[in-house]
Amino acid sequence: MLEMYNMGQFYAHAKNMCDGTDGNNCEDVAHLLRFWRQNKEEYLYDLLGQELIVSKPVSYERDQDEMYREMEEVKNCHWQFFRDIRNNLENVLHPIWTDYEAVNSDAKFIDNFMNLFDCGRLVDGRVQAFQNNSSAIIMGREVRLSTGQKSMRAIGRVAELLNMQQQFEDFRIAHSQVLNQKLIKGTLHLSIHPLDYATASDNVNDWDSCMSWLNEGCCRMGTVEMMNSPMVICAYLSGKNTMDGIGGEDWNSKKWRAWAIVNKDVILVNRQYPYHNDNIGIAVVDWIKELAQKNLGWSYGETEARLDYSAYGFSFDCGYMYNDISGCHAGCVASHIQKNTVFHHHNHSVWFSGPAECMWCGREIKWDEGNDSGTLTCPECHGATRCVCCGEVVYGDYAYWGPDDQPYCSDCYSDNFTNCEHCDDIVPQEEAISLEFPIVQHTMTKYIQETPVGSSARSKYTFNYVPNSLTTNICKDCLRNLTGKHVHDIVLHNIDYPRNHSLFFTSMGCCIDPTKVSFDQFLEIFRPYPRWRHDDGSIREVWMKLWEDYIKHLTSIGRLEF
Ligand SMILES: [Zn+2]
Ligand SMILES: [Zn+2]
Ligand SMILES: [Zn+2]
Ligand SMILES: [Zn+2]
Ligand SMILES: [Zn+2]
Repeated sequence: MLEMYNMGQFYAHAKNMCDGTDGNNCEDVAHLLRFWRQNKEEYLYDLLGQELIVSKPVSYERDQDEMYREMEEVKNCHWQFFRDIRNNLENVLHPIWTDYEAVNSDAKFIDNFMNLFDCGRLVDGRVQAFQNNSSAIIMGREVRLSTGQKSMRAIGRVAELLNMQQQFEDFRIAHSQVLNQKLIKGTLHLSIHPLDYATASDNVNDWDSCMSWLNEGCCRMGTVEMMNSPMVICAYLSGKNTMDGIGGEDWNSKKWRAWAIVNKDVILVNRQYPYHNDNIGIAVVDWIKELAQKNLGWSYGETEARLDYSAYGFSFDCGYMYNDISGCHAGCVASHIQKNTVFHHHNHSVWFSGPAECMWCGREIKWDEGNDSGTLTCPECHGATRCVCCGEVVYGDYAYWGPDDQPYCSDCYSDNFTNCEHCDDIVPQEEAISLEFPIVQHTMTKYIQETPVGSSARSKYTFNYVPNSLTTNICKDCLRNLTGKHVHDIVLHNIDYPRNHSLFFTSMGCCIDPTKVSFDQFLEIFRPYPRWRHDDGSIREVWMKLWEDYIKHLTSIGRLEF
C-alpha cells in the first residue's frame, strides 16, 4: 500500500510552476497525485522495496585525453548542421567577402559565429574576447555575440531563428556528452518520487531538455505522464550539488537521467540525458532486474547494452511525451519472450504514458484534447489567449506581440508584419512593400569586366557574388522620405516576359517605375544591399547600364508612359 507521504514540497513546486493560471487551484495534493499513487502502487512501489527512492554510489572513469578527439568526432558527425546553418545564415544575411576577408558586418558576424564551432572553443564553451563582438538581425530579431557568453546559447538562438532546432538539439546533446563524460561519479538513484519527475531535466549541472519545468520546455506535460505511468521509473545520477528553490526547498541535481520503462516483459532504459553511456544504462537495467527478481519474483534474460527490442516484437508509444525511443538503449526482455521470426510484427506494443493532468486544477487531460504539451496545465487554466487574426488558441509564451500590442500566432505574425530594411522598424505588411529589380548574372558580370582593373566594382563583385535579382523591403514612410512620392505612384506590378539578354524577370511582383524615380533615388532605395558602399564610381557605372537596360525593355513592351 503506497501511503501518501508528505508531498508539501511537490505541491508547492507544482503550484509555482503553474504561474499565470486562470482556473481553480486544486488544494488537495492527494487529489493532484491520485494517478501517480494508483499507478505506482501497481508494482513499482513494491519493486523498490516499498521505497520512493533507492540509491547507491557508483563511479565510472574515462580517459580525459579523449575529449578533444571526441569533439572532433562530434564535429565530423554533424558537418551537415554546420554547412546548413552557414548556408541559411548566408541566405538571410547579406555577407560580403573580398579575398576571404569579411567586408560588411553581416560577413563578420558569420565569420565569428562559425568560429564558435572550432574544437577548442567547443570544449571551452564560451565566446572568446578575440572574436570581435558582433551582432546581426536574423529573421527580424537581433542576435549578439559577446565575450564570455556561452557559445552553445548563441548557436541555439541562431538555430532557433533559422528553424533548425532539431539539428541543433542533436548536436547539443552530442556536444554535452563529450563535456560531461570526463569523469562520471555520483550516486545512482531509482526513483518514483513525484519531484524527480518534476525535476527530470532541471539541475545545476548545466543541461536541460524539452522536458524542463524551470525552462518551460516544450514537452513538460510528458513528465506528468511519466509520473503517472505505472511502468516508468526515473533513474538518475546525482553529485555533490543540490538545487534550491524547488518548492522553496533544496532538491537533488541530476547529472545524468533516463526514464526506465519496466513491466513483466521488458526493461528498457530510454534515451539518456545529457549524454549516452552504455555502462550506466547497463547498471540501471541490472539493478532493476535484481530488485524485480527479489521483490516481485520476475525474471528476465541477459542485459544488452543495445537491446534490439523490435526483434522481440516490442514497440513503445506515448502521449504528450516526446517519444525519444529511437536508437540504442540498454535493456532486457523476460526469459519467456522469443525473438520474432516475422519482421515488423509488433505483438508487444507498450504504451508507457500515464494520464496527462493539469498541475493546477488536477483535471485529467485526455490525449485527444490536443492540448499543448509545452504547458503543465489544461487550456482553461492556462490563460491561453487567442490570435487576434485567426482566433487560434495561443499559449502565453508562444504569442507574438505585434507593434499594435496584440497577440498573434506565429503564422499570422509573419503574414501581417514585416521589417523595413531602411528604418529597421517592424511594420504592418500593408505599410511596407518589397521592391524588386531584375538582373541577369552574366550580363552584370560582363558590365563589371568592362570597368578598369582594380576598380571597386571588380573587387566587390567577385564571381560568385553577382546576384540574380535585387530585393528590398521598405516601409511607405521611408519610401516617401527617399522619393517624395507615395508607393502607388512609383510601382509597376506584375511585369513578366521572357528572359532577355540583359534582364531576367522572375515573378517580379513590384518593380520601380523609372519615369517616376531618378537613378539616384533607385540607388538609395536599394541601399541596404551593402555593395553600394565605398564606390569609386565603377559600381555606379555598372548599375547605370543595368538601369538603362531596364528602361529600354520596359519601353519596348509598352509599360512606360512618358
Ligand atoms: Zn520537445
Ligand atoms: Zn486545469
Ligand atoms: Zn493566427
Ligand atoms: Zn491570420
Ligand atoms: Zn522604414
